[in-house]
Formats: sequence, structure tokens, C-alpha cells
Amino acid sequence: MAIEPGNIRVAVCGAAGMMGKEVVKAVMDAEGLSLVAAIDHKNSGVDSGTQAGTVSNGIRLETSLADALSRTKPDVVVDFTLPSGLMANLRTAIGLGVSPVVGTTGLSASDLTELESLSDENKRLGIFIAPNFAIGAVLMMQFAEKAAAYMPDVEIIELHHDRKLDSPSGTALLTAQRIGTARASAGVVPLAVQAGLIEKSPGARGARDSNTGDVPVHSVRLPGFVAHQEVIFGAPGQILTIRHDSLDRKSFMPGVILAVRKVVALTGVVIGLEALL
Ligand code: NAP
Repeated sequence: MAIEPGNIRVAVCGAAGMMGKEVVKAVMDAEGLSLVAAIDHKNSGVDSGTQAGTVSNGIRLETSLADALSRTKPDVVVDFTLPSGLMANLRTAIGLGVSPVVGTTGLSASDLTELESLSDENKRLGIFIAPNFAIGAVLMMQFAEKAAAYMPDVEIIELHHDRKLDSPSGTALLTAQRIGTARASAGVVPLAVQAGLIEKSPGARGARDSNTGDVPVHSVRLPGFVAHQEVIFGAPGQILTIRHDSLDRKSFMPGVILAVRKVVALTGVVIGLEALL
């Protein structure tokens, strides 16, 4: 398959990882996008198309993000790496005027503040971040927000593969924060909080702090899972469960490609796929 030159030049960072390989394939297949660089700690010199399980594309993996971006001058860099090196990658990309599409999870509130400043210093460069690029997960969060105003007692169970390094997941944190905001706007307080039940059974209630908007979050890490989440609402005599399952990493690719197309026209930091829909 020949790659047609596209209008948007794309680099993929973390291109040897599970998500990065899918992104390489998706960018190769997307009309109007050109893959110009593939960066990863490992597999230097290997053809990124062959490695991703598709045809050779002539774009070889390399280790230095700064060198790759300076040489190939992409419009967008898609980052699916690890939380530990993410901010360094973003400083490099933004400093070179390359708009990041960030799939890597684990950014803190202070990281987001720094990214806003970096965007300001670089002509309000567009930076797009989504803790979950799957449309079903976006809908799950919207439905959960809606339910929270009527059924404020809620807990989240997120289940991921055992190689995921952060917990709670970025999706769970964002869902919990939105539920917290929705409950506050509606002026409703969970029965469990009113009765002091959460405090009486801390071990049973998972992670629960200001980051989770006071919504208990339980994290499961096991081989076999990809990315799954249940938001369980309880009220006297009834339970409402909203569940989303990403069964294949392909589920994230339409969202990633949409973000690549849109980020070049954004200004500042934009979070969440629904902002682009
Ligand atoms: P993975 O298979 O471990 O892939 C990460 C790849 O990035 C590895 O090859 C790793 O190399 C490489 N890497 C790490 N730091 C790097 C750096 N600073 N520069 C260049 N390469 C680097 O992980 P994954 O499952 O693809 O997930 C990647 C991230 O995406 C995680 O944070 C995960 O939570 C997130 N994720 C987000 C979504 C979403 O929709 N937003 C969906 C799924 C996953 P080494 O192994 O040698 O370190």
C-alpha cells in the first residue's frame, strides 16, 4: 500500500507500544494524513509499518523525539508512551511548535497548568488530551453525569490489563470528577455520605479523594482485560449500571484520527473527545 502524501504530517511517539502500533496503522490508512516519524525507546531502525503488522512504510523507529521532530517537521505528534516521560515529550513538542494529541494518561493538575503556560508561550498552540478516545466511553461519562443528579450514590469499577501503570485510570478519574460536579450542581448528597457509611468502611470503598470528586473508585489489573469501566448507581430498591468495554485497541482509533485532524485548528489545552464532536 503506497502512502499518499497528506495535508497533515504526523509523528507517533510510543510507536512500538500496544497503542502506538495501532496509531501507526490508523494514520497510514487515514486520508489526508501522512506518517512522517515514529519514535520509541525500543526497536530503533525497525520499519514502523512492518512492526505494526501492516505493510512496510519506510518510516523507521528512532529514539530521539527532538531529533525526529526537528528533522521531519510534523504538524502533530500523537503520544501514547508512559506517564513518567510524558511531560518531557510535551515540552519538546510544544517548544518546536508541534501540536500534541495526548493519549498517555497520568497528567496531574499542575501538569495541565504548565501545559496552558507552554501553549501561551507558543502562540496558543493547540494541545489535545483525552483520557479515553473511544466514543462509547465518552457516552458512558455523559450518561453517568446525567444519572448522578438523580442517583447520587455511585461507585466506579475500572478494569484494565495488568501492564497498565497508573491507577485509578484517567477515564475513571474524569468520570468521577464529572459525577462530583454534576452532584454539586444538582445540590444532591449521597445517602452513604449523609449516613457516614463511607467513612465506616474505608477498605471497601477503593480510592476516594479530591481527585475522584469523592466518588469511590476501584481498580482491577488482570491479564485478559483491555479497558473496561462500570459506573454503578444505587438507590433504595434499585441499581443502575452503565458499562463500557473496549475489547480491541481499534476502538480508540476513530477518536485519535479525529483529534489529529482537529488539533491543528485548536488553541490552548482542550480535554476530552466530546469537545471535538
Ligand atoms: P505500552 O504498550 O507500554 O507502550 C508504550 C510505549 O512507549 C513502549 O514501547 C515504551 O517503551 C514507549 N515509551 C515510554 N516512554 C517513552 C518516551 N519517553 N519516549 C519514547 N517512547 C517511550 O503502553 P500502551 O498500552 O500502548 O499505553 C500507552 C499509554 O496510553 C498509557 O498511558 C495508557 O494508559 C494510555 N492509553 C490511553 C488510551 C486513551 O484512549 N487515551 C487508551 C489506551 C491506553 P519501553 O517499554 O521501552 O518503555
